Amino acid sequence: MKERKKTDKTEFISEFFDNREDSVSFEVYPPKKGQKKQFEIIKNTITRLKDLEPDFISVTYGPGGTNKGKAVDISAYIRQHDITPLAHLTSVGYTKEDIPPILDKLHSIGVKNILALRGDVPRNAIFPHGAWCDFRYAKDLISMIKKDGRFCIGAAAYPEGHPDCKELKISIKHMKEKIEAGADFFITQMFFDNQLFFDFIDRARNAGIHKPIIPGLMPVLRGKQIGKILALSDAYVPKKMADAIELYIENPQAMEAYGIEYVLRQIDSLKQQGIRRFHIYSMNRWEQITKIVKLAQLK
Ligand code: FAD
Repeated sequence: MKERKKTDKTEFISEFFDNREDSVSFEVYPPKKGQKKQFEIIKNTITRLKDLEPDFISVTYGPGGTNKGKAVDISAYIRQHDITPLAHLTSVGYTKEDIPPILDKLHSIGVKNILALRGDVPRNAIFPHGAWCDFRYAKDLISMIKKDGRFCIGAAAYPEGHPDCKELKISIKHMKEKIEAGADFFITQMFFDNQLFFDFIDRARNAGIHKPIIPGLMPVLRGKQIGKILALSDAYVPKKMADAIELYIENPQAMEAYGIEYVLRQIDSLKQQGIRRFHIYSMNRWEQITKIVKLAQLK
């Protein structure tokens, strides 16, 4: 392994991965429109997560730019705190003309890394030029960002296949297309059965994919909230976890303790198989994430 290098706030995540084999990163999401108090909570979350010395923090993007302003503000806040931001960007609803000003804005606030996604069509959303007008797939957005030349590009990967394409062989073909378009690394959808991730990595490597694939881990901290997320991700939930969610639905403390223990076991088993990079969906819950990072000895 090459010598461990401290995060340089100006660097591309791909260069960082070239120099280091271990990393810890988090995802945060911006508040919905008009939630001023929430914005303060997220700023506090980022300040607290900074104590864990994350290698980068990613910021989700509302499909069709529904949280565009806030997502940019959060990325700027991360950057101002000497942490590398990874700004998500979805293409749903956008035309080719919509992208350059967004890239300019991101570049102007110091964002060097973009997670380029297609996004999903939100319920009841109407896009003047249609949902998929100039960008049918994420690879089309990736190509455009690559041509721009100023950004390192991440993309999404699905250990269980995408909800609209459960055939892993085809999903892996789509990953290869993302690489051809310019993707430098992948972050996976959440998964709760590590074996699915190990099998997926084997298949991706056998198919000739050698870019970093970072496991995305979601600690299940609140039974009531998790239903929608699980439905969206279509992740397989092992029976023991499904039973726990049902059992602890009215007992948030017990749910949280179970969720933390579960993700700790996942991290431990991933580590045992040599996985050293972890991306944690923080759900803006810094206290629980701090506990996980410390107990798992990730930092
Ligand atoms: P694509 O790779 O374009 O895939 C979309 C569908 O098209 C899949 O079924 C795929 O198999 C299929 N496909 C791809 N290429 C082809 C092709 N050449 N021919 C035929 N079919 C093809 N959503 C948000 O709105 N905001 C976020 O911030 C966000 N962050 C995410 C972060 C991660 C790590 C992940 C895993 C997902 C995230 N998502 C986010 C969800 C994501 O937008 C959805 O899963 C979306 O449905 C697919 O996005 P994609 O970039 O994978 O699209």
